[in-house]
Amino acid sequence: MTVKGSCHCGATRFEVDEAPATVTRCTCTYCSKRGALWAYYRPAQFRLTAPADHAATYRWNTRTIAHHFCTVCGCSTYVETPDWSSGSADFDNPKISINTRLLDDFDLDAVPVDTIDGRNLW
Ligand SMILES: [Zn+2]
Repeated sequence: MTVKGSCHCGATRFEVDEAPATVTRCTCTYCSKRGALWAYYRPAQFRLTAPADHAATYRWNTRTIAHHFCTVCGCSTYVETPDWSSGSADFDNPKISINTRLLDDFDLDAVPVDTIDGRNLW
């Protein structure tokens, strides 16, 4: 079932094909300050449903990962990243991670939270 998300001001809107079964809390220096809970999708499962006119991008460290945020309200929205499940960047298998805190009409407290030790992984 499609679930929809939006930033606080509504300038960024997106949808994904299915609700997340789990969400991920990452302990890296960026994610711990952002406070996002992530869910990962293939690019074909993700659609922006509003023009990306107010999207900006933050890259840090190796600059491999594009962290998008709304320039109006500041919400962290979604991320374009290679797949890291093998332990290194797989650029042939790109992923979109969405900030599940932006999901509308979704009970985030009902899904388990996985923690990844990003602070020590990257
Ligand atoms: Zn916004």
